[in-house]
Amino acid sequence: RVQTGRTNLSVTGAVEEDGFFYAPDPSSQLACAIAGNIAMNSGGAHCLKYGVTTNNLMGVTMVLMTGEIVEIGGAHLDAGNLDLLGLICGSEGQLGVVTEATLRILHKPEGARPVLVGFDDNEVAGACVSDIIKAGVLPVAIEFMDALCIKTCEEFAQAGYPDCQALLIIEVEGSEAEIDDQLARIVKIANQHNPVEVRESKSAEESAAIWLGRKSAFGAMGQISDYMCLDGTIPVSELPMVLRRIGELSDQFGLPVGNVFHAGDGNMHPLILFDANKPGDLELCEEMGAEILKLCVDAGGCLTGEHGVGIEKRDLMTYQYAPADLEAQLAVKDVFDPHWLLNAAKVFPLAVSHDRRAEQIAAE
Ligand SMILES: Cc1cc2nc3c(=O)[nH]c(=O)nc-3n(C[C@H](O)[C@H](O)[C@H](O)COP(=O)(O)OP(=O)(O)OC[C@H]3O[C@@H](n4cnc5c(N)ncnc54)[C@H](O)[C@@H]3O)c2cc1C
Repeated sequence: RVQTGRTNLSVTGAVEEDGFFYAPDPSSQLACAIAGNIAMNSGGAHCLKYGVTTNNLMGVTMVLMTGEIVEIGGAHLDAGNLDLLGLICGSEGQLGVVTEATLRILHKPEGARPVLVGFDDNEVAGACVSDIIKAGVLPVAIEFMDALCIKTCEEFAQAGYPDCQALLIIEVEGSEAEIDDQLARIVKIANQHNPVEVRESKSAEESAAIWLGRKSAFGAMGQISDYMCLDGTIPVSELPMVLRRIGELSDQFGLPVGNVFHAGDGNMHPLILFDANKPGDLELCEEMGAEILKLCVDAGGCLTGEHGVGIEKRDLMTYQYAPADLEAQLAVKDVFDPHWLLNAAKVFPLAVSHDRRAEQIAAE
């Protein structure tokens, strides 16, 4: 049980001596708070196996707009009463203020080992991810980096990444025998895609450097250019097509894109590079970002993976949702926050939230 101002990383810090850990591991975990994780339903590199925040949250204490304090969920999964926990997790701070949470902590695995698989083509790497998932192997993480991100992260972390066009970091865990068995199956699938390099980590230090490079990607990319980080999700089988289309959009808009993302669950993070000092570049970047997010929806995915809708994507909500779907979401907010005061400008198009607030006030 934690107070929600606590940072994500400190939860594992508090229990690891006893052999436990808290699974959701956003790259921002050193700084982000459990409250923010719950509001955004945050994920991370290792969520492919353990699920995101909603799968590791058992209960919350929440202060309602009336000032009342309610307990939602409980001390174990599937606690009694109406199941409102899923409604709260991912609601982007629009329904109430979450002050405490009961989190699921897990036994640390016996061991873990990442393998680096390099390819000379983005689409081929995407096809390899799709084949691993189709084969029913479940690594803890499958992370993707393209050439720009590999080079930038390597300079930052000296992780020993191969010099190639696309890199997968695939981590499996368990006993030594389980690790060997899973890696053998993964390497067999990877070899069917002509990788330029397949290299297993040989030590805990090497594994730490591999993850430092990946987890520092956003900061490292910020050292080379201004960029806008997108967050959308697609079915894994569509990875090759979506990566190809992102490349085409990059050519069309004349803005470079770096791709670094949680490939195993199709959570894309294209980083669009632009020059904040060049008039019009930010607007061009936002226009291109909107096209990429629409592409995610068209591919059968959605506008967000783990960063939420917020202000950036509120105008795209009508692209993903039919009017009746949006109306159902608005009606939920009416119940918890009738005056539309909590993060009122987020998630829904401004005109919609403005009208809603006016309607609620007029009805009183
Ligand atoms: C470099 C970088 C890397 C990132 N990597 C990841 C990643 O790997 N995975 C991922 O999921 N996200 C990632 N993020 C996004 C972000 O860190 C997460 O969404 C995180 O969970 C937000 O937590 P926070 O404490 O920063 O929240 P904030 O940004 O402070 O708040 C997020 C939202 O939560 C609401 N909120 C805050 N406190 C409460 C409360 N007590 N009750 C109700 N609502 C509340 C706020 O109003 C806001 O709408 C990354 C961000 C950065 C900058």
